[in-house]
Parts: sequence; structure tokens; C-alpha cells
Amino acid sequence: MAPNSHVTDESEKLPPHKTVYVDTDRVACDGGGGALGHPKVYYDLDENGEAHCFYCCAHFIKK
Ligand SMILES: [Zn+2]
Repeated sequence: MAPNSHVTDESEKLPPHKTVYVDTDRVACDGGGGALGHPKVYYDLDENGEAHCFYCCAHFIKK
């Protein structure tokens, strides 16, 4: 039985997910700029009208 007392919870390292409501089929995300920002990327919403940013985990939902 492996000791697991120092296993870290991966979820604690991730920034809080944010939900962004959009009214277009294409969204742009730069993480909000500043220290938490990332290169600007564009996503096409899927058939459910949703997209997730691979950088900052922002969740886009079409209104
Ligand atoms: Zn992002």
C-alpha cells in the first residue's frame, strides 16, 4: 500500500473556472490579460453551443 500523504490535489493548482456567455459561434480568449493571461486564441463553439479554453479552462456558452 503506497503512502499517499503528500499527494497533491491537482484541482488546487488550476485557476477557478469562469463561465463566459457569448452570442456568437466563435469566441476569442486571452485569459483576461495580465499575469493570468495567455496568447489570444479563438474557438468555435461545438454543436451544443459550448467551448472550453485549453489555456485557462474558461467555459464559453452561447446564450
Ligand atoms: Zn483562455
